[in-house]
Amino acid sequence: MAATPSVETAARGAKSSATLEFLKSGPKKLLIGGKWVAAKSGKTFETLNPANEEVLALVAEGDKEDVDEAVKAARKAFEEGKWPRMNPHERTRLLLKIADLIEKNAEQLAELETLDNGKTIFESKNIDVPITAEVFRYYAGWATKIYGETNPSTPDVFNFTLREPVGVCGQIIPWNFPLLMASWKIAPALACGNTVVLKPAEQTPLTALRLGEILLEAGLPEGVVNVVTGFGPTAGGALVTHPDVDKIAFTGSTEVGKAIQRESVGNLKRISLELGGKSPNIIFPDADVNMAVFGSMMGIFLNQGQVCCAGSRIFVQESMYDQFTDSLSQMAQGLTLGDPFDPNVRMGPLVSKEQHERVLGYLSAGKSEGAKVKVGGDRGPQERGYYVKPTVFTGVNNAMKIAREEIFGPVAAAIPFKDENDAVLQGNDTAYGLAAAVWTKDISRAIKVARSLKAGTVWINNYGMLDPITPFGGYKQSGFGRELGKYAIDLYTQIKSVYARL
Ligand code: ADP
Repeated sequence: MAATPSVETAARGAKSSATLEFLKSGPKKLLIGGKWVAAKSGKTFETLNPANEEVLALVAEGDKEDVDEAVKAARKAFEEGKWPRMNPHERTRLLLKIADLIEKNAEQLAELETLDNGKTIFESKNIDVPITAEVFRYYAGWATKIYGETNPSTPDVFNFTLREPVGVCGQIIPWNFPLLMASWKIAPALACGNTVVLKPAEQTPLTALRLGEILLEAGLPEGVVNVVTGFGPTAGGALVTHPDVDKIAFTGSTEVGKAIQRESVGNLKRISLELGGKSPNIIFPDADVNMAVFGSMMGIFLNQGQVCCAGSRIFVQESMYDQFTDSLSQMAQGLTLGDPFDPNVRMGPLVSKEQHERVLGYLSAGKSEGAKVKVGGDRGPQERGYYVKPTVFTGVNNAMKIAREEIFGPVAAAIPFKDENDAVLQGNDTAYGLAAAVWTKDISRAIKVARSLKAGTVWINNYGMLDPITPFGGYKQSGFGRELGKYAIDLYTQIKSVYARL
């Protein structure tokens, strides 16, 4: 019989004693009404370290009854609790305190993220955790800036609008940026005075649970944020169909997004969906080629390519196609694939066995469709863990499966184009519309192409810049609704018109 793996083995590489303590503190529970409780069924599931396939922790498997309890707690906190009625300055202070506590616990949060997701500690420390704190800080500022209007009605009427919270928000998040996605959802919802039931992805529940502890430590009243871990169709599905949930905010695959739109119709919940992408990254010969190569490399290989806005279709003008794909491939080959805790490693394993198999399936599909593996094209050499080599396919055309479907892995499809018009036509020839990029020194061309691309975000001479002040979301089948910036305030408020006869 195999010995039960120890936390030390599973969490090899983690340095902070706080990380090990968190993992060793027994099976992880659900946060409902300010208390940590086991699932009503008593069931748990394992969360694994994708770098060594060992069990990191057991986590409560929430289901319909638990979601019911969590929604009740969130409803009570919304109808009777002080959060929606709190002085907004106080709400600001509390959100700032959350940001401070995230920074205070940065090392532990980064380590838990790397252990659960497989992303490098370099990325967890420099991207996920600091931006999470920044998102809370940004929305802390909004709590005092959510205004209604006075309207120029007839003289015997005083007419004004109130911007009020939506109510109980069900928030379902993916595994690629677990903590960061929790912040995109929770921070604006809280700034507007809503209450929340958060359902983290089953592959990566740990940082959301640690965030739950931090929220309580900051003094968030009980029931304002509830965290129910569990699986998509059960725990997630129960939130989506729940008659007392006012809004669903979802980030994940387009397929599940469509199901959510169908299933949430019962009580006509408000929904916002941030879904998949197959983003075009267009490179013209007059670009700063070194910058374009580096930016394109980051655009597809950051987070092992498990990024909804990854630049997975790299369009290169014919005249420079060979030279550019040579340089990109060389750079890809230079990315060290391995233990995500090694500070020199720039690429860790994929999140799960399922994702590993999916991506390997796309590598086979690319080869059998006649695309050429310029670099990578295979699993990593590691004996354990879900590694895939950074891969560049050349000789791709936009009709191939690897150019049409979202792979969500470190796989670039490099596609040649003739001219500006062809680049835009091919770039837009996709069901998705989350993001796009264009590289050129010709500012008119850059702006014209940016205007023509059907995508919610367009980057010029960079790939992947994000700032909490600026909206993010999709065109076409990449979803609807805009997160971040002032637009998230629209998602989490509703407007009431008041007519007072004088
Ligand atoms: P991926 O395929 O990349 O794992 P998903 O879209 O399946 O992405 O998952 C994103 C989130 O949606 C996860 O939290 C998952 O548990 C949840 N989810 C999956 N299926 C459903 C569903 N039918 N209803 C509600 N939530 C779901």
